[in-house]
Amino acid sequence: MEQSSPQLAELAQTLGQQWFGLLPGFHRFLLDHGQVVLTLCVGNTMGLLQAQQFQADAVELSAPFTPTAEMPWLLKALARCCRRGTALRLHGLQPANHPALRGTLVQFGFRAAPNDSASGHAAPDWVHGQFDPPWALKNTRQGFATSALPIERCAVIGAGLAGASVAAALARRGWQVRVLDQAGAPATGASGLPVGLVVPHVSSDDCVLSRLSRAGVRMMLQNARDLLTLGKDWAPSGVLERQVGGTPKPPAVWPQAGTQWTDKFSVPKAHQQLGAGLWHHQGAWIKPASLVNAWLDQPGITFQPHAKVANVRRNGADWELLDALGNVLCVAERVVFANASGAFDLLYKLQHSSKYLQWVDAHLPTTHGMRGMLSWQMHPSPIDASFPAFPVNGAGSMVPGVPIADGLAWFMGSSYQPDSQAERSDLDNQAINFEHLQKLLPHLAQHLAAEFSANTLHHWKNTRCVTKDRLPAVGPLDVSEQPSLWLCAGMGSRGLSFSVLCAELLAARMGAEPWPLEAKLARSLYALRA
Ligand SMILES: Cc1cc2nc3c(=O)[nH]c(=O)nc-3n(C[C@H](O)[C@H](O)[C@H](O)COP(=O)(O)OP(=O)(O)OC[C@H]3O[C@@H](n4cnc5c(N)ncnc54)[C@H](O)[C@@H]3O)c2cc1C
Repeated sequence: MEQSSPQLAELAQTLGQQWFGLLPGFHRFLLDHGQVVLTLCVGNTMGLLQAQQFQADAVELSAPFTPTAEMPWLLKALARCCRRGTALRLHGLQPANHPALRGTLVQFGFRAAPNDSASGHAAPDWVHGQFDPPWALKNTRQGFATSALPIERCAVIGAGLAGASVAAALARRGWQVRVLDQAGAPATGASGLPVGLVVPHVSSDDCVLSRLSRAGVRMMLQNARDLLTLGKDWAPSGVLERQVGGTPKPPAVWPQAGTQWTDKFSVPKAHQQLGAGLWHHQGAWIKPASLVNAWLDQPGITFQPHAKVANVRRNGADWELLDALGNVLCVAERVVFANASGAFDLLYKLQHSSKYLQWVDAHLPTTHGMRGMLSWQMHPSPIDASFPAFPVNGAGSMVPGVPIADGLAWFMGSSYQPDSQAERSDLDNQAINFEHLQKLLPHLAQHLAAEFSANTLHHWKNTRCVTKDRLPAVGPLDVSEQPSLWLCAGMGSRGLSFSVLCAELLAARMGAEPWPLEAKLARSLYALRA
């Protein structure tokens, strides 16, 4: 590349950094700080076209696209992704020389541009054709009714990972976004987590969760690389996933380049006694609050603290967001509920007063709160050699070396407890975290036993918003051609893996852009899926 097109070398290098784990499916690359978006689709062309959900501005076909028996079906699938006026460009293909190709293009609604008599071209100009069928187009032909929304004002309720990533995705597209939170600062809910791991889920059958988390981790790492300070706010340290209990089974697919299945994993020798595991080369730790603040700091976004939304009310083409006293906090054409469990509570309450939300009760996935607590402590100097050099997860997770204001700290988490139960004491949660540590890293547990039993550790706790199927809920809430109420919530235990993916999906749906996921996978995240 450097020799043949030196001007592209830098671009190729940028792309090269993200060129890993290109398994069959969609892969979204956010380049140039998200200003350039590339969706790479790997697999069978026909299947991939059928998995698209967008209205193209232009379609380019180039040789080696040659007319074959499959061609009519391909062009039909392609036409499904076009709107009236979509430009058609053919490179290295002359329909004039391929009557079958020309006939099929016409059959599915494409037509050649009128020839330019001034330039002396007699034949219709297929090189600059367009999609313009002589029949009326149905709005529902793509199986979803959303057309591109005008780029206006959007209010986002909730300034955690979900709300801030939605705000950033919309602001990048030109929206004026106001993010409201009941607290005085961003990231005071579950996203106040001091440090979290971003690691793809793997399964022997490559289930929906595995595929979604893989897509989400890729996009989260791109954001972390762009917005955070390496070594301070995040580090692509690699993560060892230990198989604790049971017989370890290799996953169906390798989630990322560098993910290895090993009996004696290829990590530093000193830690090989830990046994079998998966080494996630691209795994990372991230401080969520740093990311939330970096997202909210983007042009086009205003953060509004101390703004607890108690009601939303239609006023002409706008929505008014009201506090408990009925004061208007904010006015916008579109609203995104990204306030975790608070979103579902608010929506259930509002369905009785708003005709726009009548669907909610029957179709929103059910959710519950899942409490969790992390145990943490500063490292003495020098650091005890029993700590691994990288995060380890499997039965809870140990993140061993995170820089905080006073030095380096380790974090061990996390406990789980449904919020329908009487809240466990902090001491009991510390004991649960210790039990996890004993399974995960028995040698280290011996070294930390005294600290755990002396009850001298710090802790951090909050509640996750978990849906019944453990997948987030994203998309429009009012069933109309131009929906104005949207949801992005239910990140569960994987806000770092899901938030960017969900924000990109929501922004793509608002703009009728290509989606970051195959339609079928995206459907598993629909807000009104129950
Ligand atoms: C102990 C623990 C460990 C975890 N570890 C990890 C991990 O390692 N990796 C990982 O990916 N994830 C982890 N998670 C999960 C992760 O923290 C969450 O998935 C994520 O933070 C959820 O983000 P959110 O924006 O949906 O919710 P939140 O961060 O809870 O944000 C919701 C916001 O909405 C605001 N709000 C609520 N109601 C209203 C209202 N009516 N008006 C205005 N504002 C309102 C709240 O103040 C809050 O700021 C962990 C969670 C816990 C508790």
